[in-house]
Amino acid sequence: LLSLAEATVRFGGRAVLDGVGLDVAEHEVVCVLGPSGSGKSTLLRAVAGLQPLDAGRVLLDGRDQAGVPAHRRGVGLMFQDHQLFPQRDVGANVAFGLRMHDAPKAQQGERVRELLDLVGLPGAARRAVASLSGGEQQRVALARALAPRPRLLMLDEPLGQLDRSLRERLVVELRELFGRLGTTVLAVTHDQSEAFALADRVVVMRDGRIAQSGTPLEVWQRPVDEFVARFLGFEN
Ligand code: ATP
Ligand code: MG
Repeated sequence: LLSLAEATVRFGGRAVLDGVGLDVAEHEVVCVLGPSGSGKSTLLRAVAGLQPLDAGRVLLDGRDQAGVPAHRRGVGLMFQDHQLFPQRDVGANVAFGLRMHDAPKAQQGERVRELLDLVGLPGAARRAVASLSGGEQQRVALARALAPRPRLLMLDEPLGQLDRSLRERLVVELRELFGRLGTTVLAVTHDQSEAFALADRVVVMRDGRIAQSGTPLEVWQRPVDEFVARFLGFEN
């Protein structure tokens, strides 16, 4: 479904993405791990069409995406700081993701209700965003990202600001949801246990490159080098 070849992004002469190659198959859930500043968000933004490449290619279904604007790529991106509109209600925020502004209001309302049920917030459409807890806001952001039925859903720290017990519960729910919808997912997290619970495959980034890619078990049992081992929390 997704293929990156030699993808490179430079800021002020420094390669923040440095010749990244990555393939994501249909229905696969891939988690990107790596220290702060290693290029994880930049990778997602490049796939989404929000960050032009200085070299290399992004292919979706084998088609080069150079010059294809973000809204034509059929991918959804949930941002690190989820960027909801605080002054609009929940329903309006989710409807924004629908991209069916010309459709009748009733039809939009029905899709919004479906999506809120899906993320476990039934009946929340009229609530003010500001009245929701952090976890509830992240669910709204997820519903908005799922709204256009993206073929590839990208999540940047989807459970970032939540406490551990809520994260653990939501990870199980997300895993189940993605399996049920057959969604292909590329998710960034800095939490290994989250990556290992969610992913079919994990990708560890370091300084704009992929240090290792493999199943959670492979990466856990056989880290390729000291960096990956340290990052996963092994002392030796
Ligand atoms: P974090 O875990 O903190 O979110 P990250 O892995 O997502 O980190 P990126 O946001 O991809 O990291 O940033 C990678 C590097 O690129 C950082 O050093 C960042 O400062 C730099 N960078 C990102 N965007 C820009 C920009 N628009 N201009 C200049 N430098 C940038
Ligand atoms: Mg980031």
